[in-house]
Amino acid sequence: MYSGRTSRLAKILAGLNAVAVISPSSDMFYLTGLRLMADERLTACIIRPDGPAEMILPALYSEQVARSAPRLRQLVWTDGENPYTVLAARLREMGLDTVLVDEHMWCGHLLALQSALPEAEWGSASIPVRQLRRVKDSMEIAELRRAAEIIDSAVMRTIYEVRPGMTERHLAEVLESNIVAGGGEGVSFPPLVGSGPNSALPHYQAGDRVIREGDPVVIDAGCVAGGYCSDTTRTVLVGREPEGYLDIYRIVLRAYQAALASVRPGVACREIDRVARGVIGDSGYGQHFIHRTGHGIGLDVHGEPFIVEGNGQILEVGMTFSIEPGIYLPGRFGARVEDIILVTETGGVSLNTSARELMRL
Ligand code: ZN
Ligand code: ZN
Ligand code: ZN
Repeated sequence: MYSGRTSRLAKILAGLNAVAVISPSSDMFYLTGLRLMADERLTACIIRPDGPAEMILPALYSEQVARSAPRLRQLVWTDGENPYTVLAARLREMGLDTVLVDEHMWCGHLLALQSALPEAEWGSASIPVRQLRRVKDSMEIAELRRAAEIIDSAVMRTIYEVRPGMTERHLAEVLESNIVAGGGEGVSFPPLVGSGPNSALPHYQAGDRVIREGDPVVIDAGCVAGGYCSDTTRTVLVGREPEGYLDIYRIVLRAYQAALASVRPGVACREIDRVARGVIGDSGYGQHFIHRTGHGIGLDVHGEPFIVEGNGQILEVGMTFSIEPGIYLPGRFGARVEDIILVTETGGVSLNTSARELMRL
């Protein structure tokens, strides 16, 4: 599987007469299966148009990489050597004009490599890798589905544990332990738990506010499974809702449903955004939907395709992204519904399957 991915990248590189240098990142994981941590010691995968992929790495990683990726040829540098000179010499041997680096590479590494190889042209390796990554294969879809199942049940279990008197932060901790208990590797981002007026802040992180009777509690959370991310938003009411809350929740849910119904291969991303925005705008809340409708998801929680105004990117079978319309009334409350959608031949299918209706304790 990984050699298929590297050879697809190699084909793109051949057209550019370029070599790609990929540092520890989701791009490296996608291409090699290696989940290494980026640090101050230069480690990278080198992929070229012809010839096998290889790794440059400090001696301490050699054994570990040999075990998990035995196919990869290794260029090992030792303490006392200048790794940038070693890499520059290797790249020079390959005789290509352009070096593409992934966008997660520490700029310290890039600057040192550029001064060791001043004659090269430079560019982004993440642009061609994104092109490969935005359409998911069946293994990736299975992992995304598993991540969605784990977060669905973790959020539901957490909602049953909401009580007046708990802080948002405590609820976020409960959620994190439910994720791990359900088989998740951890969170894909720190859970957002917004109660009462905090629900009006789309990216509000759980804080010290105590959850009270009459609060909507918006929970936006995701986990990681097999390296793949989930991301969903559900809302629970603690007792009676504040006046007007049911109305905005219904509008948001209708916007979600309309956007989902508009998903099919061949449609531009901006069209999905336009549909969601249209429902909210027609209801008079257009100025309170203050973010894009969605984002792609995979090994990273945010990526292509972005479901946003102006994006002419065309949906293809196998793309996965969020649909997450919201209405936010500052100082009062907010509502959002979010699921991860898979594009299939016949339309959009939600990987999240938990009830989207407003729940009440
Ligand atoms: Zn968000
Ligand atoms: Zn989210
Ligand atoms: Zn999201």
